[in-house]
Amino acid sequence: MSNNKRIYLSSPHMGEYEQGYVSEAFSTNWIAPLGPHVNAFENELADLVGIREAAALSSGTAGIHLALRLLNVGTGDNVLCSSLTFVATANPILYQGAQPVFIDSNRETWNMSPEALERACRELEKQGKRPKAAIVVNLYGQSADMDLVLEICNRYSIPVIEDAAESLGATYRNKASGTFGRFGIYSFNGNKIITTSGGGMLISNEAESIAKARHWATQARDPALHYQHSEVGYNYRLSNILAGVGRGQLRVLNERVAARRKVFERYYDRLSKYKGIDFMPEASYGRSTRWLTALTVDPTKSGVTSLQIIEYLAERNIESRPVWKPLHLQPLFDGVPYYSHSEEESISDKLFKYGLCLPSGSNMSEEEQDFVIDSIEELLQGK
Ligand SMILES: *Cc1c(COP(=O)(O)O)cnc(C)c1O
Repeated sequence: MSNNKRIYLSSPHMGEYEQGYVSEAFSTNWIAPLGPHVNAFENELADLVGIREAAALSSGTAGIHLALRLLNVGTGDNVLCSSLTFVATANPILYQGAQPVFIDSNRETWNMSPEALERACRELEKQGKRPKAAIVVNLYGQSADMDLVLEICNRYSIPVIEDAAESLGATYRNKASGTFGRFGIYSFNGNKIITTSGGGMLISNEAESIAKARHWATQARDPALHYQHSEVGYNYRLSNILAGVGRGQLRVLNERVAARRKVFERYYDRLSKYKGIDFMPEASYGRSTRWLTALTVDPTKSGVTSLQIIEYLAERNIESRPVWKPLHLQPLFDGVPYYSHSEEESISDKLFKYGLCLPSGSNMSEEEQDFVIDSIEELLQGK
């Protein structure tokens, strides 16, 4: 196979409906950050995941920011946050002048470790610093163990924001991922499971809170003719054109999830037999979107490092990546408190050290995927 065409980690995958919705926005001249597609997109997504209210926003990050503000997170407040994630999860904590406290993952799910969470809650309580909120990430499309997380957070009266940017279409105990916290957010960035090129959604069963979020997201404009404002606001709404793209994408969400899961299966079938290669486990409590196929490579058993695989693939015009660099290791968060899985062991450090994400787009052809797998096998067998 020729490798002239770059194989991306996760590229946008349009369906057959998006252009129709976008044309409709043009022909009716609804080219604004409000309009019928925005309302319909919100309602359709809310119905799909089984939640009362949804607010369409310019990004998932904006959703996390608004959720923190709805929970009155302000200067100096502590906010618990998964460490193994993209920086967008934690940046809004800083926007609010609050203090992140990072929580490790466990080995079984790669998501927030209930043990570490419990220890953090106990110790902060002792210091009289009860966290104002917890942001729980559903990594690479797999839900965190929300029953355990919520039991602990409820015991300490800590409201939960579910960062489901990567897990739209996943389930936890047969219910849609993202719907378990007080607030949940989805992302429609270009690399996500479905995309509006850029966008996000804030969801909740609290209708008043979502109304407030929509208000803040449109510069907090009071109902007056003369542009009156009583609170600080943001320009965070999704445009009607992009909401049209979102409506089209929503109609193929199930197909996109199925395609990504199939990509995972194909990698698993051919690569799991190699020593030192361990795929991210799927917990029995739910169904992951397998947004990205993630695995760890133990060089003492496989003979190669994850970085060698990344470089080998890059020479063949294939994009692959390490797993997220944990936030407690980022220069931005130098000195921020961190609770590892156990006193002796940090799981996310190991996942970062050995982790690898392979191209996982729903629009990848079988030939492209075989080219990726053949390349990895060359390297594994060459040693
Ligand atoms: C993509 C992503 C976000 C941010 O979403 P944007 O829409 O890009 O702002 C937040 N959290 C996680 C885990 C993500 O992967």
